[in-house]
Formats: sequence, C-alpha cells, structure tokens
Amino acid sequence: MAKKKKEPPITGITVSKEEDFSAWYTEIITKAELADIRYNIKGFVCYRPWATISIRKMYRKYEDLLEKNGHLPLIMPSLIPESNLMLEAEHVEGFAPEVFWVTSAGNSGPLSERLALRPTSETALYPMYSYWIRSYKDLPFKRYQSCQVWRYEGKMTRPFFRGREFHWIEAHDVFASEEGALAQVNEDMEMTYQILQNEFAIPIIFFERPQWDKFGGAVNTYAADALMGSGKVLQLPSTHYLGQNFSKPFDVKYVDTDGKEKYGFQTCYGPAISRIYGAMIAYLGDDKGLILPFDIAPVQVVIVPILVKGKEDIVLDKCKEIYEKLKDKYVVKLDESEDSPGSKFYYWEMKGVPFRIEIGPRDIQKNQVVIVKRHDGQKVFVSENELEKQIEELASNYTKEIKEIKLLDFEEQIELCYERDSAKEAIEQGKIVCCGFCSIDMKSYSCAEAVEKDIGGFVRGKRVDEEKHEFASCIICGEPATCTVYIAKSY
Ligand SMILES: [Zn+2]
Repeated sequence: MAKKKKEPPITGITVSKEEDFSAWYTEIITKAELADIRYNIKGFVCYRPWATISIRKMYRKYEDLLEKNGHLPLIMPSLIPESNLMLEAEHVEGFAPEVFWVTSAGNSGPLSERLALRPTSETALYPMYSYWIRSYKDLPFKRYQSCQVWRYEGKMTRPFFRGREFHWIEAHDVFASEEGALAQVNEDMEMTYQILQNEFAIPIIFFERPQWDKFGGAVNTYAADALMGSGKVLQLPSTHYLGQNFSKPFDVKYVDTDGKEKYGFQTCYGPAISRIYGAMIAYLGDDKGLILPFDIAPVQVVIVPILVKGKEDIVLDKCKEIYEKLKDKYVVKLDESEDSPGSKFYYWEMKGVPFRIEIGPRDIQKNQVVIVKRHDGQKVFVSENELEKQIEELASNYTKEIKEIKLLDFEEQIELCYERDSAKEAIEQGKIVCCGFCSIDMKSYSCAEAVEKDIGGFVRGKRVDEEKHEFASCIICGEPATCTVYIAKSY
C-alpha cells in the first residue's frame, strides 16, 4: 500500500533553516509571535510577550551574577547633554554618526543645548562618579544598569540582532590600579562564558579587537564572537579596558592612602540582551521552530490531553491532577483548546516548550505519562508516581544536553591560511581563517583594509585564550608576523 503523503503542518515553520536562514528567521519571528516589525519607525520593533518573558529571565540571570560579583544596580537618565559627550574626543568621534538628538521641547522651541538619547552611558555616569567617589575606600566602585540604548544603525536591521534601539546591561567599574581593572576585564569574560555558554548554550570565543575596531575611547576592547556555525560570527558582549582615558577628562579621582589625589582606572562591559536573545533563537532553533534553554522558556511544560470519545472526563481530570502536581515548581500550561492533539504538538514545538506531556486513556490505564523532549524529540515513558522526580532530572539536564550537541568546536571551523587566495577561498566556503598578521596596532590598518577587500572578511583580532598556531609572516604585506589573527564574515 502506498504511504500517504504527509500534509505540511498548518502552524509549523515552512522554510528550512539551512536552505534559507533569513526567511526561516523572519518566519520564526512572526509565527512564534516574538516581535512585530510593523511599528512605523525603521529599526524599532515591538517585542511580544513570548520574547519579552524570555528576555526578562535572561536579564535576571545576568543581573544576579553581576550582583554576586559585587556590582550594584542604578538607573540613569536616558538623555545626555552634548557637552558631556564632547569631553572624550575618540568617544564622541566613534559615536557621533549614530546618535539620535533631542533638539526641541514642547512649545518652547529649540533647546539651548542638544541632548543625546544615550548610545551608551559613559558620559552620563562618569560626571556623577566624580561626585560619588572620594577616597580609596570607595574603590573598587562597581555599578550597572539595565536599560535601552539608541544608535542610528546604518546597516540592514533585523529584529533582536540589529536594531536602532536595543536592550542591554552596561557595567561601569573604577579601580585604584591597572591590575584591578584588568582583573575585572577577565571577570567580565568569565561571566560571559558562564552565562552565554552554560545558561544560553551559545558557543563563543573572545578576541582582543584590533586597535582600529575598538570601542571609542578604550585602551583595549575584548569582544566575544558567537560562532554561528556558518563561518559567520556575531559580536556579542564586549568588555573594555579604559585606562585613565575617561577618568582624566571626567575627573574621576580618589584620595589614596598616601593622601594624594589620583585618577581611577576604569572598565566597562556591555552585554546586549536583545542581541543575545536573537543569537540564541537563531543558533538553537530548527525547522520545527524555537529551541530554548529550560530556564529561559516562557512555558516549560505543556500538558496535552489525548481525548477519546466517551473518556474525555477521565483524561481531563488526570491532566488537571498532573498540572496541580507540577505548577508550583515549573511554568506549566494545560492546553484544553479545541485543536487536535497534532496541531497542539506543532504549535508548542514551534514555541520551543521544552517538555510536552501527553496523557491518553491508555496511559491512564498503565499509570504512565509520556514526556516528549523538544530539543531531540525523544519520548520518555514515566510511571505516574515517578513523574516529579523524572521531570526534575530531565529539567536539570535539558540545557546541558543542548549545549553538548550545539557546542561547536572552534578548531573545526577554522582553516589555516598562508596566502590571500587560499584565505579568500576558505571564507567563501564558510570557514574562519586563521593566519599571520603584522600587528593589530593602527599601523597595520591598511593590511586590514586589504583583508576586507581581497579576502572578504574582517579581522576579528587575537584570541584571548590559548593560541596554538604560529605564522612567520603577515598574510597581506609579508612582513614578519607579530601575531595570529582570525578573519571571518560577520552578521
Ligand atoms: Zn601586514
């Protein structure tokens, strides 16, 4: 007998992620009701509840860890006077092309001074730091805020990934010594690994960015690139060593133990939660829809009754009983809607709910329930009196399992290259190129331009963890190599 062709699911995702990532991403955003791009300012989108709930949970994870590491929260005004922005020349140069300005107010016409919608808060916070920090006893001084920032992004915008308004955390710390500040940079990188890799299952690697690609006003920038598995990388949190570049113009001083006034050493760290969310759904999702880490999912367990004529009440009663058992510990949804069980499966799979519990008359007879795991589709039969214990175990392993499947081996994605042509070819094949470079100081900027033009990728910098590869000469100019760099396309 010929097999019946399966009808495509009505509510499921219709585009293959591998064949057309962009269309897949757009469809998942719309069908899983994550964001609405119809808001009528370009680059500004509405975040819908399913995304907002996850984003809030992500914020909480990050905020808890920052506070555990000695940061205190604060809330700053969202407007910054132009005169503040002008105080650090490189900073203003870096951000000026992206600033939204408030230039008039109500009926009183133009303002006497333009006000910037904060693109980042150094120039709002540091004048206040000069009031708040008095003595060495106030140091280290560690603060953070969770807020929105606005940047007039010229590149194509895409919900969560890149917008003109995004949601982030910024931490700004002051230390008495350079060592203290550099130790903070390390702590920031460790926090990033802990949260992004362990909690959100996104593989990353940290690079020291070249001088031409650093944060405006920083001495050094260290940025995490998320490995997207396509040879393309996406910049995620970055941490910056600011030295005394800001403490001097903003007068961030303290009286040291010897009674002398000294300038602080500063760092800042900016994980963009909305972008991390975008990376997470893009990287973890599959052709059925979202896959979410257990702690981040807005609904963690969905109960789907399998109703058979005449036995509806027994099944629904059992479902309610199970719901009551689980609801205090997890976010549980009992789907009592009119839809068929099949459509409910597709719908909740698309939404990325980690566990689906199916209960039908036969299961009740056997005293069992069926748990289906979203990320690998595995069915687990659990006896009813073991349910709570089993769910707890499955839940504690769920994110770890995703991480183990999804953790890319960085080494496997890279190709060692010794000349332009092979590097160009490797980039075209979706690889990350590893090669020798004259330096990542400004003097090598022309080589970086050649990389962009001839090879088709960007110099991401020197990796911060152990470097295994060594090269004799720069891939562009042939001068002796002082470092090993990585070249990749980026989102
Ligand atoms: Zn060179």
